[in-house]
Amino acid sequence: MQNDDKLSPDLVWQADGHLTEIALTALGDGEEALLPEGASAHVARCATCSSELGRAALLSLRAGELLRVHPAPSGAREPAALRDPLPIPAIAVALALSTLGAAPSLVAGAGGLRERLAALWHACSVVVRTGCAVAGSGALSGWLTALPWLSAALLVIVGVGVAWTREKQLSLHGGM
Ligand SMILES: [Zn+2]
Repeated sequence: MQNDDKLSPDLVWQADGHLTEIALTALGDGEEALLPEGASAHVARCATCSSELGRAALLSLRAGELLRVHPAPSGAREPAALRDPLPIPAIAVALALSTLGAAPSLVAGAGGLRERLAALWHACSVVVRTGCAVAGSGALSGWLTALPWLSAALLVIVGVGVAWTREKQLSLHGGM
């Protein structure tokens, strides 16, 4: 297997064992193939890197907002591909990682927490799916400014919920 097209480890891993901003940005952009094996698995397990990835996704959304509010001054009509500001890959990766991160907690059976996470997850997926559908149809263009932010906010809430559940379980086990 060739590894030439992957980022070198010193660009991916920080000295403290977390992922670098470069690696998180690559993940947020859907460029998971650039990362060495184990990088995305680490994000799924690591609350620090998960929340950093969420922040990277938010920045990506904000960049999309700015591009939409201040379109290129070419005067020409933009192609449809450029009008779609939703960072679908970033949202999809973040959602997938949130699911991976939540899976152990869900399997461990956290009672009410489990239901809360499931509800959050459901709300999140519904909003993202709605956002994609609206973006695809091109209708309700006014909604497009709000939906990415709503999706991102829900992503952050899910991430915080996952991290909180894990911490609570750790403290329960460690407090014995
Ligand atoms: Zn980490």
